[in-house]
Amino acid sequence: MIKACIVSIGNELLNGHTTDTNCSYICGHLLSIGVPVVGVYTVGDDIKQIVRALKRAAEDADIVIVTGGLGPTDDDITRQAFAELLGVKLQVKPALLKDIRKFFADRGLPMPEKNTIQACVPKGASPLENPFGTAPGIFAKMKKKLFFAMPGVPVEMKEMLEKSVLSRLAKKGTGGFTIVKKVRCFGTGESALAEKLGDIMTRGRNPLINITVSGGVITLHVVASAKTKKQAGQMAKKDVNHLRSLLGNLIFGVDDQTLPEVVGHWLTQHHKTITVAESCTGGLLTKLITDVPGASEYFTRGWITYSNQAKTELLGVPKQLIEKHGAVSEQVASAMAMAARQKAKSDFAIAITGIAGPAGGSKQKPVGLVYISVCNGDDCQTKKCLFSYTRDLIRTRAALTALNMLRLSFDLSA
Ligand code: AMP
Ligand code: MG
Repeated sequence: MIKACIVSIGNELLNGHTTDTNCSYICGHLLSIGVPVVGVYTVGDDIKQIVRALKRAAEDADIVIVTGGLGPTDDDITRQAFAELLGVKLQVKPALLKDIRKFFADRGLPMPEKNTIQACVPKGASPLENPFGTAPGIFAKMKKKLFFAMPGVPVEMKEMLEKSVLSRLAKKGTGGFTIVKKVRCFGTGESALAEKLGDIMTRGRNPLINITVSGGVITLHVVASAKTKKQAGQMAKKDVNHLRSLLGNLIFGVDDQTLPEVVGHWLTQHHKTITVAESCTGGLLTKLITDVPGASEYFTRGWITYSNQAKTELLGVPKQLIEKHGAVSEQVASAMAMAARQKAKSDFAIAITGIAGPAGGSKQKPVGLVYISVCNGDDCQTKKCLFSYTRDLIRTRAALTALNMLRLSFDLSA
């Protein structure tokens, strides 16, 4: 199987200004045609560093994919670096120069002299068409290794990758196919989940299983490689089924499904409605629910009762209950959920009350303490959670945990 290595070029990638989104985009698209990326080099706009990275990348892989440094300004020197790598001079290609002049003329502008450099290609290399901009790409061959250089501007890179790189590689034949299936889990920690998997995560296994975690959502990536697409698909499917048997209801979805989507789908299918009462999440749960197109089918209304007064005035939570147990308590969470469900006449209700921090915590009630109450009809369950890290993460985890509790409560009503 042929392999690729990526070289990302630009000072902006090294000073924290720009996130290298090109890299992850290219990795995913190469893998989908059966070309795994085995390494990534990120370098600044420095000719020595670029040439060194290109050489190393060519040692690591059969194909080197480069982005960045093809602009017209003096800091864009990928062309010059290629000329040095190949030991040749840059040549102006009249056809390219004509295209670039036309690009400006079409916009009623004269071509700045600086753009002439973009019509230059190292001798022996060929240009790659750029329908969206003035920077053509470069295709070069050296000692059986293939080099593709593309612009850094994401929209230009994506078009060139699709039209000039992936199509060429697919035609050439990559020696196999890779299918990636994702299994999405919520409700446990990464290591606790990994323990349930036994030795299925062994490196070198095919399918290979990788784990990523974000906001409490654990994603297992099942990467299956085989001679044919069908075989790879079958291998991935078998592993996904195996993961289902190992993880049960920790799994909430596959591929890019989100918790709000899964919950919304269930509510739509079962013609059920939901309402929410939020305190510390300040509307975040409502946002997540209504981010899903078609949420009006099942979402009726929500209350943001941030102050004690609002909890009493809008939801009728007794003042004495708040005074006795505190606004962040099991009793207040369940009173909020029950009141919201009754007022909205919904099938389900969720209430969240907690301390998102950074201030406001105490020994008895620390920052991160959140009570979440979920009512499924008259059946209400309230969970005490202790989340960590930042205000942002505490609120995100609280909203997602609430949706997960709701999802699990469906099992009881199905
Ligand atoms: P360049 O082709 O080097 O002139 O890059 C043009 C612009 O594209 C830069 O100013 C960045 O905003 C953006 N860019 C460059 N490289 C990347 C990358 N790896 N990922 C995302 N954006 C990028
Ligand atoms: Mg640049």
